[in-house]
Amino acid sequence: MNSKLKTIVHECTHYVDTFNSDDIIYGSGYGLAIWAGRYPNETAKNADSITCYITEND
Ligand SMILES: [Zn+2]
Repeated sequence: MNSKLKTIVHECTHYVDTFNSDDIIYGSGYGLAIWAGRYPNETAKNADSITCYITEND
């Protein structure tokens, strides 16, 4: 997906009336998946995790 669009989605997840997300860890792909397995509670609030979910981008 277009990186500019991913950036906009990322920033929008921070809004308190959307996901109120935090930047706990940046990333995507396999590394982010490994982190998610270890910290499932944090994943639900992590901006890049939500962004990857929305954009269907690893
Ligand atoms: Zn952010």
